[in-house]
Amino acid sequence: TPTITVIGAGLAGSEAALAAAKQGVRVRLFEMRPVKMTPAHRTGNFAELVCSTSLGGEGEMQSKGLLQAEMRSVGAAIVTSADAARVPAGNALAVDREAFSETVTAKVRAHPLIEVVPGEVTRIPDGIVVIATGPLTSDALAEDVARLTGSERLAFYDAAAPVIEADSINFDVAWRAGRYDQQADYVNCPFTKEEYLAFIAALEQARAHTPHDWEKLEFFEGCMPIEEIARRGVDTPRFGPMSPKGLDDPRTGRWPYAVAQLRQEDAQGRMWSLVGFQTGLKWGDQKTLVQMIPGLENAEIVRYGVMHRNTYLNAPQVLHGTLQLRADPQKFVAGVLAGTEGYLESSATGWLAGTNAARLALGLEPLTPPAESMLGGLVRYLASANPKGFQPMNVNWALVPELPAPINPNTGKPRKLGKREKRPPMYRRGLEAFTAWARTDAGLDVTDPAPAP
Ligand code: FAD
Repeated sequence: TPTITVIGAGLAGSEAALAAAKQGVRVRLFEMRPVKMTPAHRTGNFAELVCSTSLGGEGEMQSKGLLQAEMRSVGAAIVTSADAARVPAGNALAVDREAFSETVTAKVRAHPLIEVVPGEVTRIPDGIVVIATGPLTSDALAEDVARLTGSERLAFYDAAAPVIEADSINFDVAWRAGRYDQQADYVNCPFTKEEYLAFIAALEQARAHTPHDWEKLEFFEGCMPIEEIARRGVDTPRFGPMSPKGLDDPRTGRWPYAVAQLRQEDAQGRMWSLVGFQTGLKWGDQKTLVQMIPGLENAEIVRYGVMHRNTYLNAPQVLHGTLQLRADPQKFVAGVLAGTEGYLESSATGWLAGTNAARLALGLEPLTPPAESMLGGLVRYLASANPKGFQPMNVNWALVPELPAPINPNTGKPRKLGKREKRPPMYRRGLEAFTAWARTDAGLDVTDPAPAP
């Protein structure tokens, strides 16, 4: 029986080990806890939840709901353990913290094909390996990962700006242009003086009631949070990331007082991030502030800004959609290290990496799930996102293709679908594509999904 190695028994690594063992390969699973702890974990249990106990919203309206259903259909360990340990939480899949990680730990320890090896791994072993050591990867191993990928492709903290769904930008106000007639790669949102002053005042107010965990971080140049830039003076943002220089507003023919710029994140142009707006503000405040930006009154935020310690690869520069490293296709990466954010996303990429590592060991081709599925959308994004300022990504509806717009019979023009109209069919389309792929291409046992809650 061929053997593979999994490093890290967190959300991604536990799932990867069980998914690989299910394919009939032997797994050596390395975990450093409790011998060596991370700054966030408290126990020696596998798949410990370090903060909240929620694996995300459920049902046909929720992108996490679709990913949960995909994982449930193939009997993946994290989501089925969450189902077994769930506690009532409205429309979210929330769990009893201890019961959940004890369930996962028991499944891993009981599996006859998995050997658990305690202790820290400091060098990536030879052969087929899944690296799933997470946002708090130990320093020695991080150094070895950097050796394999190039050190400039491994980041040690997250300084992320909010990401907006393109559909929700008001192009009666915002416009596409580059500074001084450079290529029109940016979306620009123009401020009047009054709008700018009100925005800076709101920013200052939000900053005043936010805990500044990130202040312990050392910032590289260009990664200062926007609230910190604003604290240095009311005009500092306007001479920094909010500079209007070289941007003629087509409505006035002149430079506005200040500008917020957005840069394209995904290959299709459905997600745009605010340039220079990395922030550690509370999510409620971020939403209020973003919607104060002219042109973003109705902005849908698909990923909020964060500032915290995080170890992750610049996925679009180093990964294939199969989660193999381009530099060495015998090495797979999953979880936060692979550029995902969130417990559920980490476990799902762990499932794919474990399944693919086993396939490779068995002489089969590693696979990428279909683009319509949430897992397929996520790993395709990882492999194809804009590498400039790449930040770990949560699942969201902009990762999967839009439905075709129906033609309005009265006007003969395409009609924009509302969220309630389009998400349930996108959910069903994704789940059907995923289960068909899992059954046919991956040759897995698939449980027909129960109707969404
Ligand atoms: P982990 O679950 O951290 O697993 C990695 C494992 O590898 C750990 O068990 C670690 O001990 C082990 N390891 C590390 N280095 C080595 C080594 N050299 N040798 C052997 N083993 C090693 N996401 C959410 O959805 N909700 C939240 O509330 C949330 N809060 C977070 C709070 C913090 C402080 C952090 C840092 C992240 C948080 N996340 C949250 C993000 C992310 O979803 C979780 O960190 C998630 O656990 C990531 O899964 P993972 O498998 O990539 O890493």
